Amino acid sequence: MIKGYKEEISKIYSRIREYEDSALKKRKLEISEKIPEVSNIERKIAKFCIDLSVLSFKDVDNREQYLKDLREKITDLRVKKSELLVSNGYPIDYVSRNYKCTKCKDTGYIGSKQCTCYRQKLVKLYYKNSHLDIILKNNNFEHFNINYYSSSRTGEEPKSPRRNIEEKIIPDVMDYIKNFSSVNTNLLFYGNSGTGKTFLSNCIAKDLLDKGFLVIYRTADDLIHDLKQIKFENNSTLEDLLLNCDLLILDDLGTEQITDFSSSEFFNFLNKKLLMNKKMLISSNYSLEKLSKTYSERITSRLFGNFKLFKFYGEDIRVKINFSRQK
Ligand SMILES: [Zn+2]
Repeated sequence: MIKGYKEEISKIYSRIREYEDSALKKRKLEISEKIPEVSNIERKIAKFCIDLSVLSFKDVDNREQYLKDLREKITDLRVKKSELLVSNGYPIDYVSRNYKCTKCKDTGYIGSKQCTCYRQKLVKLYYKNSHLDIILKNNNFEHFNINYYSSSRTGEEPKSPRRNIEEKIIPDVMDYIKNFSSVNTNLLFYGNSGTGKTFLSNCIAKDLLDKGFLVIYRTADDLIHDLKQIKFENNSTLEDLLLNCDLLILDDLGTEQITDFSSSEFFNFLNKKLLMNKKMLISSNYSLEKLSKTYSERITSRLFGNFKLFKFYGEDIRVKINFSRQK
């Protein structure tokens, strides 16, 4: 989906423009039948506007005065048009072009800069096409069941799994979502599988997407695949999306095939994101020790130094859920 998103969005904008063009045509037709005088005025205005635009190519005596007269005529006609519309019970802008977004006039761009409405469209499109909407129906805070976490302490952990999630992880995550636009923090969720890391990542994704932030979700495997495309196919659209989204969720770090290429590209990518202050949430089933053994020092020093670390532990929730279903 990511690959063709620009084309998709540009289609959305042309559909909006086509719709507004044809709506305007209909309104003009209606007015030409009901108040023909308005259409006459519009034709006169159009003619004067052309005169105005070609004036600089023409030889005119007393150019200043001519220009002033022309502008006055146009203004008078516009006033007359408005009066006619209003006195006939129509809104003043009934025969003007409407825009869904007046800032960019439904083009998505102001100059070469993307308009704010562009990003909103991107979020919607991404949400719809990524099937995230289906996953996120169940993976959200409403369905987050704290009772799956045991209240008894095990091993060396200072807190029970339940207190860890309830007192440390959830409050921090809630704060993160609340202050999302003003913080630059990256999060690293690590710990054994089935402890709710992906579930919680999805909850965060849903909350932020609903607020209009662009959250991109990739598994580590997807990311390596994407980095290859960026490198070898010069896919700058994809690169732009991965680098500039509001939050990149990178799930299951450690499950991807680790090669010299993947290591060096992953490092470059990570570094770029950090330098650009673009937020990431990475989750991994590996312990910090295993991460250190798997990745180079330059990668782990960034992960451990630039990410807020959250350790997940406890029994495998998926096993627990299955077990309670069988009972
Ligand atoms: Zn706009």
